[in-house]
Amino acid sequence: MTLRLYDTATREVSDFVPRTPGQVGIYVCGATVQAPPHVGHLRPSVAFDVLRRWLERSGHRVTLVRNVTDIDDKIIAKAAAAGVEWWAHAAHYERVFTAAYDALGVLPPTYEPRATQHVPQMIELMQRLVERGHAYSTGVGNVWFDVRSWPAYGELTRQRLEDLAPEPADDADAADPAAAKRDPHDFALWKAAKPDEPATAAWDTPWGRGRPGWHLECSAMAQRYLGDEFDIHGGGLDLRFPHHENEQAQSRAAGYPFARRWMHSAWITQSGVKMSKSLGNGLLVADVLAAAPAPVVRYAVVSVQYRSMLEWAPDTLDDARTTWDRLTGFVQRATERVGAVPRDEVAKAELPEAFAAAMDDDLNTPAALAVVHEHLKAGNTALAQPAGAEADAAVRAGLVAVRAMLDVLGLDPQDPHWATATSGDDATRVALDALVAAELEARAAARAAKDWATSDAIRDRLAAAGVVVQDGPDGARWTLAD
Ligand SMILES: [Zn+2]
Repeated sequence: MTLRLYDTATREVSDFVPRTPGQVGIYVCGATVQAPPHVGHLRPSVAFDVLRRWLERSGHRVTLVRNVTDIDDKIIAKAAAAGVEWWAHAAHYERVFTAAYDALGVLPPTYEPRATQHVPQMIELMQRLVERGHAYSTGVGNVWFDVRSWPAYGELTRQRLEDLAPEPADDADAADPAAAKRDPHDFALWKAAKPDEPATAAWDTPWGRGRPGWHLECSAMAQRYLGDEFDIHGGGLDLRFPHHENEQAQSRAAGYPFARRWMHSAWITQSGVKMSKSLGNGLLVADVLAAAPAPVVRYAVVSVQYRSMLEWAPDTLDDARTTWDRLTGFVQRATERVGAVPRDEVAKAELPEAFAAAMDDDLNTPAALAVVHEHLKAGNTALAQPAGAEADAAVRAGLVAVRAMLDVLGLDPQDPHWATATSGDDATRVALDALVAAELEARAAARAAKDWATSDAIRDRLAAAGVVVQDGPDGARWTLAD
């Protein structure tokens, strides 16, 4: 069997052939660390974590890069509103995201570069684009990508320039019309320093002081860690345009082949609408984790194929919990009957063919889970037989198969990561603590601004998730109800 994956660029499922046999380079766009994550933010990380685990299980060495966007308009604005340094704001939410990834069993990426640590690489890339006639500077500090100079612009998302809405005008244009860009579709590689922004949020370049435009950082960091060409570029569906279109244009116009395949995970929706903080239906990871154990949340995310919209209904977590309890119940009873199976054996066990075929079919996780449930059923049937060599062998075979398949999905109940998490211990507590702390901080900021509606909404949301908040002289404390 060959792994077949959907490619957003060709819009087809095709055989996956790594550039170098046995090695795979993946770049996934990470978070802009400006606010606590909702569960929709975490879906791409979980989806590419499953891809990475499957590639590794199939004998590949995977290098996975996931960046941190630690400077952008929102980070600067929110930090200013909260009266803290932009980098302190970013560092805080980076930790919150890390706690959320960890809580959901997402393996740490091989490298997790921050945008602000790669300014020299970005300058080099801009230099190359300017030399090749694909970028230009206007005024002091602005550098634009010249879309008219690159006929392939729009190829990733199959859009013609004529049909696209113009890029929003930058404030700098309004202030100095002479510095205006050549074409309304030209996008910012570098943004001029603004007088009302902190001096620490700007770097010197040959074109003046400024800070990175969002798209540039990913082109620079992908090349730094994966080379001029790499296997897979991934992210959430909403990043296809303009972010990924612009990344590809920058890198290819600079003369680098860039990503050979594009993969995008679909949204999490509520009543069919994309989960989003701005739409007011963003379920924070902190709230979700307070309502259900972490592996149950991961199970709910993994049970839908990554390219399908995942509708987060009121009973989503209850259903996942029922199924998860059935799986862990079997694993526990089978282990009591035949003894513990070492993790090593689970990691090397041969996987049922139907499971491997489902995973090779563009990571068809629901079909793969159906195979897990067939083996669960057979295992339970064997468990119901009186103890004896034959029945015990069947129980053990079922146990190994179920755990091995779940392990590929990052859901082996006896993975030490969950073994601690399910007993309500430290790892979950630490993650939950960090996530609730972010909520309480937002509430404190709302109270300081006398925004009682927001402050009450946060308290009510936490209460609905079983987190009780008490205000005291040293600030708010929280406990879990029950
Ligand atoms: Zn990116």
